Amino acid sequence: MIIVMKRNATEVQIDHVVHWVESIGYKAYHSKGTEQTVVKAIGGERGGEELKYLAALSGVEKVVPIRKPYKLTSREAKAEDTIVRIGDVRVGDGTFTVMAGPCSIESEEQLLESAYIAKKGGAQILRGGAFKPRTSPYSFQGMEEDGLKLLAKAREKTGMPVVTEVVNPADVDLVEAYADILQVGARNVQNFALLKKIGQSRKPVLLKRGMMTTIEELLMSAEYILSAGNEQVILCERGIRTFETATRNTLDISAVPVLKELTHLPVVIDPSHATGHWKYVIPLSRAALAVGADGIIVEMHPQPEKAFCDGAQSLKPETFYELMEELKRMEYLLRATERVLV
Ligand code: PEP
Ligand code: MN
Repeated sequence: MIIVMKRNATEVQIDHVVHWVESIGYKAYHSKGTEQTVVKAIGGERGGEELKYLAALSGVEKVVPIRKPYKLTSREAKAEDTIVRIGDVRVGDGTFTVMAGPCSIESEEQLLESAYIAKKGGAQILRGGAFKPRTSPYSFQGMEEDGLKLLAKAREKTGMPVVTEVVNPADVDLVEAYADILQVGARNVQNFALLKKIGQSRKPVLLKRGMMTTIEELLMSAEYILSAGNEQVILCERGIRTFETATRNTLDISAVPVLKELTHLPVVIDPSHATGHWKYVIPLSRAALAVGADGIIVEMHPQPEKAFCDGAQSLKPETFYELMEELKRMEYLLRATERVLV
């Protein structure tokens, strides 16, 4: 339920509402707007009926139910877009953010080279996995803390914030000490222990949709993070598993406008994992920009043929530069069209 306070509600009246909400077992999220204060009553196990009585308390203008099961994540709870801040980078403010880098961190040379290429091309954020969730236990599992140290070095050299995956709740503190964005991978989207732990962090989160999760399930996973107190969440559509085998997954491009309607959180697309082939990364990145995504996360490697992981979907440096030029051209065209239409 959202309890909308009257414009002239006093602090005492607001405090009274907060205490009332908490006294019947709900969590009260209190946000003070410039015009009006709202208190969101979330949780509780009694279906919310008793909250209707709040309408009778002094200072309360109205009580509006949040019908969606993902309460804090829904547009009903917050109409305006959430902007996720990573240093000077803003995701969700209407700009298009590019995150780029190798699937996994392999060596200092490989990561620094990737970082310089990402920076030169105009990407804002460097990606690189230090803990890799691999289908096979015999595949390269990542450089772990040594990889995180290299990420910190790449950030120091280029000034680019870094995003990296955390696979295990026990590693959240370690990864958070190095990363600017904590990535939750597709395979962990419903690892609730991990989501709860990440919710306690104050670092921004990149939450990937699982290959078998519905949009509602993705939003429920985001709710775990938001309800634990971390509102800085970016959602990522990275392809879902369908009957189609021509691509590694099937990019659900319609997830972007659907998510934009249902939630205030920013949405990015990962065209690399969606298709499994570098050839399709540029066309799908164009689609991401055109459909209104807030950015993309792409895999790029100085020598994809030598990559320890996901080489087939990694862009060569030249193709990465081509992608960035293409996006700049498209952004220019889209803005020009907007100017004509206004
Ligand atoms: C990755 O980003 O390298 C990765 C493993 O992605 P996903 O979780 O989407 O498969
Ligand atoms: Mn990968």
